[in-house]
Amino acid sequence: MRTIELNQRQELILQIVKDSGPITGEQIADKLSLTRATLRPDLAILTMAGFLDARPRVGYFYTGKTGSQLFTERLKKLFVKDFQSIPVVVNESASVYDAIVTMFLEDVGTLFVVDKDSHLIGVLSRKDLLRASMGKQDLETIPVNIIMTRMPNITTCKPDDLLIDVANTLINKQIDALPVVLKIADESNEKYEVIGRITKTNITKAFVHIANEMH
Ligand code: ADP
Repeated sequence: MRTIELNQRQELILQIVKDSGPITGEQIADKLSLTRATLRPDLAILTMAGFLDARPRVGYFYTGKTGSQLFTERLKKLFVKDFQSIPVVVNESASVYDAIVTMFLEDVGTLFVVDKDSHLIGVLSRKDLLRASMGKQDLETIPVNIIMTRMPNITTCKPDDLLIDVANTLINKQIDALPVVLKIADESNEKYEVIGRITKTNITKAFVHIANEMH
């Protein structure tokens, strides 16, 4: 499997380095009857993608890494902070009706519930709101804090977490989204400020990002 598509010349260079490496850029250029300058972008791409490595005064050599090894290496360098979305929050005193309206207007599938100090206290999913709507109660009078999933049972992540770890958490816990949080300093209890949102969509975007990177 090769996840990064190479053009014909790049494939040719790769073959030359496999057969004759370590080899200098100069020597590769000679073999292809091209100038060193013409090859420079191709060599940069092949090196950046991890197929080739370059050593000063030695030249290029083949790393022997497969496409899937390279893909995994790249995946393990993606962080939450680079792919997170803006969080959509509602206050704990908001009604279930308000939350439903917010979910539609903001076009998200998960809302985060905060207290008056903007600290995270709960999560509302689409199904939480649907479940609350099945009864005969007046949705405008039920506050979200009686139907939400609440702290300390909320799974969170931090901006510096690896995206692949968050993806694993979403799968294992069978949830759609995690709030990205910062721990509030000088608090004895665990209090968090919500600064972002990671959903399955963000993970999909990261996946596509890697695939597009080298084109
Ligand atoms: P849905 O219920 O609409 O399919 P989810 O799968 O995300 O959406 O939610 C399933 C349940 O898990 C809901 O009750 C929701 O409140 C809860 N939940 C969602 N996200 C989290 C989270 N990050 N931490 C803890 N519980 C969550």
